[in-house]
Amino acid sequence: MTTDVPRTADFVIIGGGVHGASLAFHLARKKAGRVLLIEKKFIASGPTGRSTALVRRFYAMDFFTRTASAAAEMFRHWKDVVGGDGDPGFQQVGMLALAGPDNAPNLRHNAMQAQKVGARVQLISPAEVKALVPAANVDDVALASYEAESGYADPSSTANALANRARDLGATLVQYRHVDAIRTAGQKVVGVRSEGIDIDAPVVVNCAGLWADRLLRPLGVEVSIKPERHQMCFFRRPSGFGVHPAVADSVQMTYMRPEHGDLTIHGKLVYDEIVDPDSYNEGADPDQIVKNAELIAHRFPVMEHGLAMGGYSGLYDATPDHHPVLGAIAPYEGLFADFGWSGHGFKHSPLMGDIISDVILHGRAKDYDITPFRWTRFRENDLVPSARWAADPHPKHRV
Ligand SMILES: Cc1cc2nc3c(=O)[nH]c(=O)nc-3n(C[C@H](O)[C@H](O)[C@H](O)COP(=O)(O)OP(=O)(O)OC[C@H]3O[C@@H](n4cnc5c(N)ncnc54)[C@H](O)[C@@H]3O)c2cc1C
Repeated sequence: MTTDVPRTADFVIIGGGVHGASLAFHLARKKAGRVLLIEKKFIASGPTGRSTALVRRFYAMDFFTRTASAAAEMFRHWKDVVGGDGDPGFQQVGMLALAGPDNAPNLRHNAMQAQKVGARVQLISPAEVKALVPAANVDDVALASYEAESGYADPSSTANALANRARDLGATLVQYRHVDAIRTAGQKVVGVRSEGIDIDAPVVVNCAGLWADRLLRPLGVEVSIKPERHQMCFFRRPSGFGVHPAVADSVQMTYMRPEHGDLTIHGKLVYDEIVDPDSYNEGADPDQIVKNAELIAHRFPVMEHGLAMGGYSGLYDATPDHHPVLGAIAPYEGLFADFGWSGHGFKHSPLMGDIISDVILHGRAKDYDITPFRWTRFRENDLVPSARWAADPHPKHRV
């Protein structure tokens, strides 16, 4: 990949995570003009590279059900829709979401609503879960959903496949280069400043994840990004316990999926530790490994014989409502955003570059209304409600 830095571009994308890479690909695919992506380290070196990368299809909100379902189809048919030599490493192991008696009505409602907007998900009983995965303990499960065509991907391979395809189609990728500032003249974007040089561009897109707020603050745009530390643990499955579906477990508030070989990666859904994204403990805490071992052994009792294999931490770029900031950054002409995915952005990523590039090029995306995700919602106190698969249904945001 090139390290020469052009001094002008039609579009500058800040950040080479999976969202910046997707946007570069779609802009290049649409022959929109000169696309320049600048990444301060290497492609997928941020949270993307540490993602669990579940690819699943439904939420308590139509917008995300539709984007997740469409993106899941892109993962399944990558060669046809993205092309090139890249491979996102999609593994169609299936996806189970488990609910206890408290959450079962919400799961039922949300899955049925998701079916109405086209998500390929079915509701199944605890006995059917047991038939699917005989090793599962379903004593505390009241209802489950199953997505046979979902699974997980390799996050780094996905971002690199998109970035490399963007480069093949004419985009310029610059790695190990920091963008220090977004330059404006009045209320118009004129480019960026990067390590002592000015790069002129009429359109700048902030895909800087955890660091996106720092670039906006000097422009008077205040968006709170809290770096939440999430710990993921690896366990070796005992012989006889093979590949299992990915599991999102709202009874235990955990999730897991198979990893390479006979490993399973397992984590809790909620953590509240806020850290410095430039200096934090990237490992897993010993007490969390023990806690995760107990939780996985509750769901799969055979894992009492499994081996704890350590773990790592990754960061969520958490906004106040745990939803992203998308689209134009008012009042600046030429400034756009796709950041703040708060731990659920991987699965939507191949599609999101298509949506954001349409918004940049045509003022709107044909099939998707992204106005609920405008940055000014935080100022207006118009937050987007939780969209988790077992969250309370909320008609207001059925966009
Ligand atoms: C442990 C963990 C598990 C997850 N599991 C899932 C999951 O199962 N399913 C799912 O859908 N999502 C999941 N996610 C969330 C998902 O991975 C993220 O939402 C997604 O990867 C975010 O991609 P991004 O491109 O927006 O941001 P990032 O990956 O943060 O990329 C931003 C990039 O911008 C660069 N950058 C920042 N500032 C500058 C600057 N000034 N100049 C140049 N470059 C800059 C950074 O170096 C970084 O590479 C998980 C995340 C974590 C941490």
